[in-house]
Amino acid sequence: MSELTRELVLEQLSRVKGPDLESNIVDLGLVSEVVIANGGVTFALTVDPARAQELEPMREAAEKAVQQLDGVERVMVALTAEKAGGSGGPAAPPPQAARQAPPPGNLAPPPPMGGGQAQPQRAAGVPGVKAIVAVASGKGGVGKSTTAVNLALGLQANGLKVGVLDADIYGPSMPRLLGISGRPEPVQGKTLKPMQGYGLNVMSMGFLVEEDTPMIWRGPMVMSALTQMLREVEWGDLDILVVDMPPGTGDAQLTMAQQVPLAGAVIVSTPQDLALIDARKGLNMFRKVDVPVLGIVENMSYFECPKCGERSEIFGHGGARLEAEKLGMDFLGEVPLDMEVRLRSDQGQPIVVSKPDSMHAGIYRDIATAVWAKIEQGESQARAAPKIVIE
Ligand code: ADP
Repeated sequence: MSELTRELVLEQLSRVKGPDLESNIVDLGLVSEVVIANGGVTFALTVDPARAQELEPMREAAEKAVQQLDGVERVMVALTAEKAGGSGGPAAPPPQAARQAPPPGNLAPPPPMGGGQAQPQRAAGVPGVKAIVAVASGKGGVGKSTTAVNLALGLQANGLKVGVLDADIYGPSMPRLLGISGRPEPVQGKTLKPMQGYGLNVMSMGFLVEEDTPMIWRGPMVMSALTQMLREVEWGDLDILVVDMPPGTGDAQLTMAQQVPLAGAVIVSTPQDLALIDARKGLNMFRKVDVPVLGIVENMSYFECPKCGERSEIFGHGGARLEAEKLGMDFLGEVPLDMEVRLRSDQGQPIVVSKPDSMHAGIYRDIATAVWAKIEQGESQARAAPKIVIE
């Protein structure tokens, strides 16, 4: 069996016809850098965004072609409207509608899907998944991922079947937080089996690309990866799928919020003023796309000295509760700053499962109870909605 190389992948891809149905996609310069890691092959095809939907068969043909190579376990092909960075790709003339690369560290607003038509208000549901909830924050480092994972485990502790989708494509943290390593198994070469961690079904970009792989994902590619992780994974029957959103409230997050059929969103904030301003942006973002904000969680709310029990309100505790009230949002709970939360998180042992009797685990379970109650309430309201009586 010959070793799987970039050249072999490109050779195989040169059998796939491009949009003109004459030249092949490699000669047309549509193939981005090819990333090969542990049997997984990832690349993008640059297309005119206006033709993205019509060119889906080309994407599938490229995926199938690479799938046939020896040693390939998974293929992830994204359609992108911009030429991905990286040195490996052939020198390609940018397609007519190529977009400017975004500034480093910024997500570019993806082009409208569906050939440039207006986006649907809500994406279609995921079969078997009853409700999808986003965990979002206005900025990074506020404990959004820690909250997402403990919320998921809290929901599970309350008797629900739960999955976690790590949508933080630039900084996936679920493999580390849940202590999961390895690669998802393909199912009939088309879909992927989610990974398992503490009874949760989990999918993350971190399982598909190496941590030190240069992130070639940009705007539209991010969307494509998210869509694949959402819809090409055998999630099974879940009561709830918790989505750990990328931090921030930019256009990319907005589009993500629109592409995922969300039952609601939980906003995580620290008590600092700045973070609260960001939290407000989060609220506005979800309002824009018509996703109900289930409430706000104040993280790193206060510090209780483990030795003397004294409580220090390092960041001026309580701001989130007040802010939530002002904005008409529910307050879902406050999680104190705690050394053990951090240590256990970093060791892949979330506190809800590794120390279920702790005060913190209890707080997360209560937050989970509140979140689930709000989802059920939302569903029953939706069911009870319009009744037309003609007398
Ligand atoms: P985000 O997803 O918002 O970037 P993380 O969940 O990765 O944030 O958390 C950032 C850091 O803060 C991590 O090291 C995490 O362990 C730590 N952390 C989060 N919440 C708490 C808490 N309540 N107490 C102590 N450390 C925390």
